Amino acid sequence: MSSESESESESESEAEGEGEGWIPRTSLGKLVQAGKITSIEDIFIQGYRIMEPEIVDVLLPGLEVEVLDTGLVQKQTDAGEKGRFRAIVAIGNRNGWIGLGSGKAKQWRTAIEKATLDAKLNITPVRRGCGSRECACDQPHSLPFKVRGKCGSVIVELIPGPRGLGLVASEGVKTILQLTGIRDIWTRAYGSTRTRASIVYATFNALKETFKVVTPQDWAT
Ligand SMILES: [Zn+2]
Repeated sequence: MSSESESESESESEAEGEGEGWIPRTSLGKLVQAGKITSIEDIFIQGYRIMEPEIVDVLLPGLEVEVLDTGLVQKQTDAGEKGRFRAIVAIGNRNGWIGLGSGKAKQWRTAIEKATLDAKLNITPVRRGCGSRECACDQPHSLPFKVRGKCGSVIVELIPGPRGLGLVASEGVKTILQLTGIRDIWTRAYGSTRTRASIVYATFNALKETFKVVTPQDWAT
């Protein structure tokens, strides 16, 4: 097994996440449980929307979970001040799949669990490649072309870089890129970049763009 000591202490719901005891509520869930759909790629090719996190547990087992941001949200009520935790979580397999989610709850741990479930529902493929002119190899160590994503007033650009460059990015962004399996990239952020939530969501939206652009390789298949 891997050296994920953290997953040892995860809740039982995570441990039994391979689809056991799961009663699917959607037709897609039923197809996955019956073994009629066996790859997550098929779900995206056919344009289904994932409404049950268990689908991701079955088709993409062993996703890594990283908490990107947590905080306390103060809420003024009649009874006085009430705090709620919020969390942003990224999940990925370091091989072209990434999800980002957020959750709020009275308990810190529950906020993270909610964010993890949300991230599963938002799982998305990332097209990797080498769009660096200096490098021009055929390895998927970077992105095939430049992409940009937006969240609020924040814009994040991801620019292909040569092998050996590393991830030129701020902390939360770097974590997301690591979870996708990208190793070399330049990043630029514009706007109110002090809010980490906006930056990580803009990064996620940029990564989604990698599958919205049709390239000459797509015409061949
Ligand atoms: Zn390259």
